Amino acid sequence: MRIEAVEVYHASLPLLSPWRTGYGEDAAVDTVLVRLESGDAWGWGEATPFERPEYSAEWAGGAFILIRDVLAPALLAAEIESGDDLRARLGRFKGNFFAKATLDIAWWNLEAELQGRSLRELLGGTRTAVPVGADFGVMDSLDDLLAAVGGAIDAGFPRVKLKFCPGWEFEVVAEVRKTFPKLTLHIDCNSGYTLADAALFRKLDSLALAMIEQPLAHDDLIDHAKLQRELDTPICLDESIVSVRAAQQAIELGSCGCINVKPGRVGGLTNARLIHDVCRAAGIPCWVGGNLETGVGTSAAVALATLDNFVYPADIFPPGRFYRDELARPLVEFRRDEQGRQTAIAFEAATGVPEPDPEHLRQVLVETARIANGHRGVPADAIGITARR
Ligand code: MG
Repeated sequence: MRIEAVEVYHASLPLLSPWRTGYGEDAAVDTVLVRLESGDAWGWGEATPFERPEYSAEWAGGAFILIRDVLAPALLAAEIESGDDLRARLGRFKGNFFAKATLDIAWWNLEAELQGRSLRELLGGTRTAVPVGADFGVMDSLDDLLAAVGGAIDAGFPRVKLKFCPGWEFEVVAEVRKTFPKLTLHIDCNSGYTLADAALFRKLDSLALAMIEQPLAHDDLIDHAKLQRELDTPICLDESIVSVRAAQQAIELGSCGCINVKPGRVGGLTNARLIHDVCRAAGIPCWVGGNLETGVGTSAAVALATLDNFVYPADIFPPGRFYRDELARPLVEFRRDEQGRQTAIAFEAATGVPEPDPEHLRQVLVETARIANGHRGVPADAIGITARR
């Protein structure tokens, strides 16, 4: 396909309640959406690097500028026949995986649109239903958390993930384990610890956790390998896996027993699928995570999660979990399966992804630009956001 125009949108989405993790507290999620045009077809992509570079080195304002000034111009008028082709064209620009992911995901959605196939089918997904888990950040009290976890179990969520940070540590997890002895449970440390905390993690071995997610530095593989050798509980890497190469090195070093694959963090669906394949070949299970994307990102995540080595319940959330008004509703149905588990089901009839509601997008817009025919940085709202056909 020939890329004829790129529109980029930086939006800030107010959350229903603040999201508290080891990185701090967010009242809104900053997301970046792009729309690729080819002929009279288009596809949307999204990644959510957040307002400030706390989860990773990227941030939404920076990703917006990079897409507008560097990445989108590199794709204009180019014939791009595959995700690998797009990756190669952007490969000379270092890092910036979230920014690249918006364009990669949009390319896959545009390709699905052009072929008249679902994204799941195009990616090679082997099933349509994907079990999804429940996540809980730091809460006001332990009683609030126990009530929330109990509610998640009643609702059929097959696993629960808890944030883990100073002030919300072993005693909290131990109480959840004591109250719910059979629950599939794991913790996410968001890179808040060092090897000096190894004793704390050895103590967690007694709580039969499914995994300990990203205990050490966001860019580390070696210390994680050292810590993994001391633990029975598998380490799951999230922040550290920014590329296929990082996944290969983590596996070779023995840094983890599991990988959380987020399409945004790894540069999009092309890399996410390659990391899935590398993990499968090495016998490492993986699962699909996310960063509170709108329905555009969620639809892509569900399609990805239908690949067969995504064996642990995904971080994919139904509309209304984080946002009062959804900017884009996912092409996904959330319901309980025959075993009572909460699942997300990719819509088979649908192709492409849902588009943001134009009026809603205007209300939450921070910045926008359209890049086409040598014109760089023309505000997209000057030409109007195109509504779904
Ligand atoms: Mg994580």
